[in-house]
Amino acid sequence: MIIFSFHSCSWNTVEEPIEYSGGVVLSFDDYNINEWQWADSILNKYNWKATFCVSGFDKLSDNEINKLLQLQQKGHEIASHSLKHLNAVEYVSEHGVQKYLEDEILPSIEGLETAGFSIQSFAYPYGSRNEEIDSALLPHFNILRALAWGKKEPSEHYCYYNNSPLVYAFSLDSNYEYSTIDYLLELLQFARDNDRILILYGHKPIETGPDGYNTKINKLEVICEYVADNRMKFLRLMDL
Ligand SMILES: [Zn+2]
Repeated sequence: MIIFSFHSCSWNTVEEPIEYSGGVVLSFDDYNINEWQWADSILNKYNWKATFCVSGFDKLSDNEINKLLQLQQKGHEIASHSLKHLNAVEYVSEHGVQKYLEDEILPSIEGLETAGFSIQSFAYPYGSRNEEIDSALLPHFNILRALAWGKKEPSEHYCYYNNSPLVYAFSLDSNYEYSTIDYLLELLQFARDNDRILILYGHKPIETGPDGYNTKINKLEVICEYVADNRMKFLRLMDL
């Protein structure tokens, strides 16, 4: 007679790997380094990972560069957002794409890499781009990030990773009235339920203040909590 024991199954219990469903890229632009470091001190409890897209690298102090190095050390990505934050389409129409590379892209990569950053991704200032510029930049980056505007049904939105090196990010900032916590949760839920990666971007995380190119820390906390609670992934642009 064979006796089955319910308990026998538990002897070899191994820890199941966590199953993730979808993910989010949180990216931040320009050079709000003190605010980025402050946000990290609040959001690191969620084990978040962000991508900080730096413009004006040549103007940063040693102290600011050290803070960025600390963020990289903690697993965040530092990406390029060009040297002088010029509008790529306007600059290229006037000076040509080669000059844009020489003036805005290569010095940004070189400055950042010399300082110890591993540069793999690029965020277009103002989201200004075209196919000619994409082709010129792709030999230098794995991912190019443009911008996605407007409120649409999540299934219709183009702010999700689509297996292309060109991605479009939806705004976190308070100057877009449609970038509400409720709508962001709808976008996140679509990512979770359909195993998609939502791409988001903002500028300056703040505690409180008037609307503008800033994101209230509360909004970021709600997003990070949702990602953690739903076992979604925090991805950097370089992880795509
Ligand atoms: Zn910018």
